Order: sequence, then structure tokens, then C-alpha cells
Amino acid sequence: MKTTIIGFPRIGENRELKFATEKYFRNELTISELTDFARELRQKHWELIKQSGIDGIPSNDFSFYDTTLDTACLLNIIPQEVKTLNLTESEKYFALARGYQGEKGDIKARPMKKWFNTNYHYIVPKIEKGTSIFVSGDKIFKEYHEAKVLGIETRPVIIGPYTLLQLSEFELGTDQQRITDELIAAYKEIFERLGALGAEWIQLDEPSLVKDVTTEELAEFKAIYEKLLTEPQIKVLLQTYFGDIRDAYETVIALPFDGIGLDFVEGRKTLELVKQGFPKDKLLFAGIVNGKNIWRNNYQQTIEALKEIESERLVLTTSCSLLHVPFTTENETFSAEINQHFAFAKEKLAELVDIADILTGAKDVLQVNQKLFAESRFTENHAVQEKINALTEKDYTRQPTFEQRETIQKSAFDYPVLPTTTIGSFPQTREVKLTRAKYKRQEISEEAYDQFIAQQINDWLEWQEKIGLDVLVHGEFERNDMVEYFGQNLSGYLFSKNGWVQSYGTRGVKPPIIWGDVAREKPITVKWSTYAQKQTDKIVKGMLTGPVTILNWSFPREDISLKDSTLQIALAIQEEVLDLEKNGIRVIQIDEAALREKLPLRKTDWYSEYLDWSIPAFRLVHSKVQAATQIHTHMCYSEFTDIIPAIDQMDADVISFEASRSNLGILDELKQQHFRTAVGPGVYDIHSPRVPAVNEIKQTIHKILAKVPLEKVWINPDCGLKTRGIPETTASLTNMTEAVKQVREEL
Ligand code: GLN
Ligand code: ZN
Repeated sequence: MKTTIIGFPRIGENRELKFATEKYFRNELTISELTDFARELRQKHWELIKQSGIDGIPSNDFSFYDTTLDTACLLNIIPQEVKTLNLTESEKYFALARGYQGEKGDIKARPMKKWFNTNYHYIVPKIEKGTSIFVSGDKIFKEYHEAKVLGIETRPVIIGPYTLLQLSEFELGTDQQRITDELIAAYKEIFERLGALGAEWIQLDEPSLVKDVTTEELAEFKAIYEKLLTEPQIKVLLQTYFGDIRDAYETVIALPFDGIGLDFVEGRKTLELVKQGFPKDKLLFAGIVNGKNIWRNNYQQTIEALKEIESERLVLTTSCSLLHVPFTTENETFSAEINQHFAFAKEKLAELVDIADILTGAKDVLQVNQKLFAESRFTENHAVQEKINALTEKDYTRQPTFEQRETIQKSAFDYPVLPTTTIGSFPQTREVKLTRAKYKRQEISEEAYDQFIAQQINDWLEWQEKIGLDVLVHGEFERNDMVEYFGQNLSGYLFSKNGWVQSYGTRGVKPPIIWGDVAREKPITVKWSTYAQKQTDKIVKGMLTGPVTILNWSFPREDISLKDSTLQIALAIQEEVLDLEKNGIRVIQIDEAALREKLPLRKTDWYSEYLDWSIPAFRLVHSKVQAATQIHTHMCYSEFTDIIPAIDQMDADVISFEASRSNLGILDELKQQHFRTAVGPGVYDIHSPRVPAVNEIKQTIHKILAKVPLEKVWINPDCGLKTRGIPETTASLTNMTEAVKQVREEL
């Protein structure tokens, strides 16, 4: 029984790659020093995988930034504006990833998008009319050879041509057929050259196959691979992940691949598909160890599933690349009791070997593993479970209706037309971060810390009043992160010390772990929200993170459903909402920045597998407030064009979102679909330090008013301001309030 993995975390045990790369960005390392560093890191990882007893070791899963970008660079998919600049190869690479501004030119970074249903991001390749695809780079060959010299045989990994085309942006008028033909020729050359170097296998990642695949797309996939698989000089593994390939399964098994990799964890139909028949002449790479979550594998369950698969030619693997989990539990300080439940990347290698050993009878580790799942966890909270079981439709329904509330709130608040507000946070300056860190390390007293936060709040409230904002915020200075801050105040949460996962480039996230039933232990935001409200006669918005976002940015439990976990969080946040209301907070914003993140990859599952419970979970949070309490929500990006009815069903009174970058196009859709929630389509882009002029904002407001009825419009920036500096923040918001003032006078 052989074992392998789809990919390994490249950032290193202690995020070494991040720190080295950032040093290079700051000119503290030369490119050759960085390259040397990376080579040593790769060697370390290959050796670690080998020593774990894994048979098939991947290469070219390493990347300085993103493997999709690597593939684009390997294949000469580099936009003309970057090509023509007099930059070195690595400067071009990083220019595509992060933009370039210097003596050799000024170009923007390529757009970055979420990698399927993960929090990893890829750089979107751009294929232009003039793009000519051929093998222009050598990374994949170099890394294969590098391992080989070390005596390690690897299987080079690369994104497959179908997915690459699916993810790329095409310039209008590009000859798609020519591009496809060139791409096929380039992959053939990669096969040949790797074969010549001695590689036995290549792994082509085609995760796009787990989405809904249309007949045309399937035909395209088939056409590509029929050509590609004629006498390949190497064995080809078609690797899929993040779901099952029900639309493409028949086509895939009929093609002459040597191995097919399927996801048995997220792929709900994978087992069913395989049981219908799997070709005897191919290897089945069965993804049975979860590459996305941090819990121990349930060996008994896995083995039972494997027994149902007849294929004798089985390779055990992970459900997706281990890129999506942290490196190792070894450096964590959880108790042994707790730690035994976790498997990060390194531990997952051992799990694969364990399962193989159990199957061949070489080792009996089944019992120890079974014990982990036999005992119920000690942080069960029966009261919460009972509350969830007792929920009825009424708990998810806010009364009175939206329209009735609209009238009640209109007279209760008596806002001017085009009420102005911000999204929550103000700049988290060095001083703010430093003070929080000092407090955490107990270098300053609670009193001193509280005094500091109070002063920040006072200063910013005074300033907000001065520029004439209508609904104020306290500024979120006490929060490190919009999920961790809440997790730390809820029971059932655990925090790793070093559980970093790459989000994009050198940026990592450290998702908290939902360990047990979640409940609110004590008020979370009440102290600072009520403090702020007491300082002013204006309305101060309470500021909370919604349950779906808290769940989506955590490692969720596997012993209960995502739905139940989310409902538990929703009940905890509901308590907070009611507590805020009781304490005189009349407007409460509940952010759902990551609402889309776990939206199923198959559109056909959206309403039956996700929105059917996530939208009600949001409603549960605010269903019990008074009619005159105004509920706001915020979503980053206007990424909800395709789920507009669902967003309206959140039944918030107001939603703010980012529209400035998408050119307000979403407003047409809102109008057409009779969106009733009042909207604050951000009037300027906070992701750039640029200060919008008064006239520019006025124009944007007029554009909004051409599409949305005046009484439904709010004016705000498009996201929180915590990453911005103070000068541009104050200048931009001053211009924003001035623009509103002028528009109001002209109405
Ligand atoms: N209230 C949060 C803030 O202003 C919202 C952040 C977000 O949308 N990502 O920072
Ligand atoms: Zn946002």
C-alpha cells in the first residue's frame, strides 16, 4: 500500500519563507540569498516527508508567492506591460504578485482571487491577444532535478491546463483555440523534459472539475487531454480536490491517465462514483486524510470506506494539498489531552503511513485512534445543545416586518437624507498595536491600557462629530482581529501558538479552533460600545462579527455539522446583541465579511447545502431586537451579485459593501431584483492610500442616486479603515462628508 500527499506547506515550520521573502522585499536579502534559503527549505521538507515514510513525494509545490503565478511564468503568460519593463525575471514575478513602483516603471499588481473554497489566494493569470504560450521558465525542471541530486525521487506538480484556462482572464478578442493548442504543446514539452530528466510521474491539478461542469466545458477538457495524453513520456496523475467530480467522472475514467486522484473527504459523491466502477489499469489516489482541517483522522471510518473500494491499485493520499493546514502540532502548548486530537501537516504524514500499515496488517494503531473518538469531549455544553434543539421558525424571524420597521426607524432616528457612517475600524497605528501587545504581555496595567483605549475613542468620536458624520463608531482599537477577538471571549474556542496557514504571498492567518460547544461567557463588546455611546449625543454603532464569518475563519469541528456550530455561535452573538440593546446601543452592525467563503463550489448546491442555514443563522442573531433597533451588516466586495435574494433574506435594515471597484455595476442588479434592504455602496476605495476629491465622491453619489431611491441610500467608505494611515483617512472622510453636504443642498 503506497502513500503520497498532494502538496506540503511551503512557508516552513516557523514561517521562515515569509520572513526571508519580506527581507528580500526590504532589500535586506539579495535574490540569490533568498534562492539559497528556499533551496534549503525545500530540502528540509522533502527529507521530512521522506523520513515520515511517505512514498510519493511532490515537488514544484513550493512557491515564493503562488503556484498559479509560477505556472503562468513557466508558460510565458506575462502581460505585455510587465514584459516590456526592464526587470529581471524575479522582479517580474514579484511585480505580477505585488505591483512594482520604482525607477524602472509603475505597474499594478495582478488581481488576486480566493482559491476555490479556501482562504488561500491565487494571482489571476492574464492571457492577452498577443500572448504566446511556450515553456519559457524552468522552475519545475530545476526543482525536480534539485531533489534528484539529493537522492529524492519526486513527482512534479503543476496546475492542469483545463483549470489554468478556467482561472485565467482573457483579453477580449483573444484566439482561444490558438491559446489552447499552444498550451497543449507546452504541457507536452514539460512531459518530455521531465521524462528526460528521469521523472516517472507528473501530477496535474484540475480542481475546476469539482465545480458544475457544462457539456461544452467537458468537451473542452476531453479535447485537451485526448491530445495531451497521446504517447506521454511520463505517467500522468490527474489530481482533483475540494469536492467530487460527478459531472466529469465518466469522461475522466475513459481517458488514458495512469492515476486519478479523488477527494473522499469533501467529495460527497466520490465513493458512490468509484463504486460504480473504476478502471483496473489505473491507480486510484484516494484522498482520505483531510488536507483542510486539523483534526485527527478517524482510522476506523477511513478503513471502512476504503474497504468499499475494490481497486487493488490504491494509493493513499490527502484530500487536498496540506498547504491549507499549519505545519506541526509539536510546537504547540496545548495539554497532551487536547493535542492528541490534532493533526497538522506533519502529523498527517504519519496518519497516512498509519492507515497504510493498518490495511496491510503491519502495525496496529487502530485502538489508540479509536479511543479518541469513543470518548465524548469534555467541553460539551448541554444547555447550548438544548437551546439549538428547541429553536423554531419564530427564532429565525424578526418581527415586525422589514417595511414596518422601516417606518418606525424613520421617525425614531430622524436621520438627514444620505446618512453618513463608516464601517467600524479606524487606523490601527503602530502605537495602538504596540499598546495592545504590551497589555497582552502584562507590561502595562489594565488601568493604563483602558485609559489608552478610552482616549483613542474620545479623540476619534470628537473628530467624527466635528466632520459631521451621522452614525459614529468607537473605532475597534481594542481588537486584534475581527474573529480572534470574539473567539477569545467565547467558551469552546482554542488558539494555537503557531498554527499559521498561508493566505496569500507572505501573509498568513492563524485560524482559531472550535474545540467544543460555543457559548458566550461574558459580555464582549458592551464595555467599549457603551463607553463610546456615553461620550456623545450622536448615535454610536455597536460592532460585531457575524456567526458565519466567525465560523468560516475558524477550524470547524468535524463531530457536529457546520450548521450546528454556526447556530451555537449565532446564539452567543445574539446574547451580545441583546446586551448591547439593553445598554442603550440603538444601531448594531453585524459584519459578515466571509459569508461567501464556504459557498459550495457547485452552484446547484448553494441553496440546499449552505444558504439554507447560514442566512437563517444570521437572522437568529438579531431576530429578538426591538423594531426601533437598527441592524446593519457589512460585506467586503460586492461579491453577492449572484445571491442577492439571499442577502435580502438576512433581513438586516442596512447593508454596506464595497462597490467602488466594481464600478457600481451591482446597483443595476439590486434594482432589478427589488432589493429592499437600505444600502451603503462604499463611495471610495479604502484599499488604496489615494484620497478621493469632493467632486469625485459627489459624482459617485449621483451615480448611486440614479439607481437607488434616495431614502434607501447610506454614504460610507467601502470597508474598515484599520489598515490605513491617519492622514489619508481623515482627508478622505472629510471630503466624503463635504460631498454629502453639497449633494444635500443641491437636492
Ligand atoms: N468592522 C470591521 C472593520 O471595520 C469590518 C472589517 C471587514 O469588513 N473586513 O474593520
Ligand atoms: Zn469589508
